[in-house]
Amino acid sequence: MTKVIITGAKGRMGQTLIACAARTPGIQVVGQIDLGDHLAPLLDKADAVIDFSFHEATLPFAHLCVQHGKALIVGTTGHAEAEKAELRACAAKIPMVWASNYSTGVNTLFWLTRKAAEILGPNFDLEVVEMHHRLKKDAPSGTATTLLEILGDVRKVQLKEALRHGREGIVGERTSSEIGIHAIRGGDVVGDHTVIFAANGERVELTHKASSRETFANGALRAAQWVVKQKPGLYDMQDVLGLK
Ligand code: NAD
Repeated sequence: MTKVIITGAKGRMGQTLIACAARTPGIQVVGQIDLGDHLAPLLDKADAVIDFSFHEATLPFAHLCVQHGKALIVGTTGHAEAEKAELRACAAKIPMVWASNYSTGVNTLFWLTRKAAEILGPNFDLEVVEMHHRLKKDAPSGTATTLLEILGDVRKVQLKEALRHGREGIVGERTSSEIGIHAIRGGDVVGDHTVIFAANGERVELTHKASSRETFANGALRAAQWVVKQKPGLYDMQDVLGLK
């Protein structure tokens, strides 16, 4: 039995995790934390913390997991560079899964995006479009950022220089080195991502659409059951799914 604490328990993902955990054999929720609650007193009875709260909360939770020797599943997105560096340092001391997206379908999209970029080559212009519900706080989404990192890696470009966040005004002709990213917000959309490869005469579009948060929650619960058996280190969902 893997005993987990859910942080951000009153949120959209937190509530979905609690509902999915109740239906998952081998998982027991031993603590639920939201704003104003304290994690430390609950940690001794848990094997792992699943954090889908807010990016600023993740690092303090990670430090507590290190102090108590507990595994951590990082679900939050939108971390600042300094937060990312400190989270990586924590992962040297505890087993940590950190994924911008816990769905199996999106991890397949990550794999397909790398393959398509490799096969199609530099003559194809690259653009990423993502859409989420109106309440999402960060942009572009963590999943879109991972897609951009994959494209930047294959193209061997520095993302800071290559990224074009939307376009406005007389922007001039598109350069072949740029990678476009467009974040759409509205309604209750759980999460849509499209990677566009556009060349003269043809276009390839890879799209994933999430219609339920259960896909993320079930992936995170699977990650928790997997990571408690691992050595300290930083893992992602491709490791959990055996896609590497
Ligand atoms: P939400 O706003 O519905 O829920 C967040 C919850 O965290 C709220 O109840 C809030 O009160 C709580 N919270 C905020 N600060 C806290 C703190 N310091 N301590 C404890 N609780 C705190 O948001 P959501 O839609 O559930 O998303 C939560 C996070 O998960 C976001 O960062 C989102 O981008 C991310 N997310 C990741 C994935 C993935 O697969 N990795 C999927 C969906 C959402």
